[in-house]
Amino acid sequence: MKFVELNNGVKMPQLGFGVFQVPDLKECEQAVLDAIDSGYRLIDTAAAYHNEEAVGAAIKKSGVAREELFITSKLWVSDASYERAKKGIETSLNKLGLDYIDLYLLHQPYGDVIGAWKALEEAYHAGKVRAIGVSNFYADQLKNLILTCDVRPVINQIEVNPWYQQKQEIKLNQAEDVRVEAWAPFAEGKHNIFQNEVLAEIGQKYGKANGQVILRWLMQRGIVVIPKSVHKNRMEENFDVFNFELSDEDMQTIAKLDKNESQFFDHRDPETIEQIFGSSLSQLKQK
Ligand code: NAP
Repeated sequence: MKFVELNNGVKMPQLGFGVFQVPDLKECEQAVLDAIDSGYRLIDTAAAYHNEEAVGAAIKKSGVAREELFITSKLWVSDASYERAKKGIETSLNKLGLDYIDLYLLHQPYGDVIGAWKALEEAYHAGKVRAIGVSNFYADQLKNLILTCDVRPVINQIEVNPWYQQKQEIKLNQAEDVRVEAWAPFAEGKHNIFQNEVLAEIGQKYGKANGQVILRWLMQRGIVVIPKSVHKNRMEENFDVFNFELSDEDMQTIAKLDKNESQFFDHRDPETIEQIFGSSLSQLKQK
């Protein structure tokens, strides 16, 4: 496993395992057990995935020492205020059954971000979380947080895949010493990514599949990756990316695949914000 060092000195595996869209707790527990058995040590969950209990159960059953694992969870928008975030962190700890979480993220740049961040800072100083970061923050939102708060985020988890390469955002995050972590590294399979001929041609040179080429392309740019699969053979395939290196020419060929547009939704579109996050945000007004 390759590790990256975060801006607070904490070391994090560069390749991990994500559990978004695995709401069935038994299936999630088995997937995490299979992932740990395949060699993964970084597990990425979130309050909003409703499977923190299953991740916690798998951690216990795995028999792997706690300090060898790196567990990430995230605070949802409906808890994005100082008071609610304090409770949200405790709820994540309880559901995971852990004394500490390795990395805790603000899941979205909405709500009372500054208040919620204060609660994350307190949890960090109290040793309940080893590192704190954000997700889906654009560079201006990140700058606002950095200029306002005491503890600099260690990570920004954003969508990065061959169709949405985020070159400018990655540059701006790196300039702030904030590590980029790619969600949906495979764009969840959109536009037949696993069959794409350009990626396949590159993969053939190394005896690797498209998914492995993508993970390698991201990792060679210093990005942390957290592919998801509920199939053990795919978990193993996605983990088998440490024995080859893409050439500069391969990297440039992949750079040309950029469609420069999110494969899911635009986090800056007011209508989308209302549709996806409106009801969660309205909960902040109620309490
Ligand atoms: P992804 O990892 O890009 O793609 C997952 C899809 O690819 C699944 O349908 C999976 O199918 C398939 N797959 C995986 N490996 C494969 C392989 N080797 N060959 C063929 N198909 C393969 O999508 P994601 O789950 O959205 O993103 C990864 C993680 O990022 C999430 O699980 C979550 O932890 C995180 N995330 C964070 C945010 C955020 O807002 N912060 C948003 C989205 C995701 P099977 O499962 O059926 O194998």
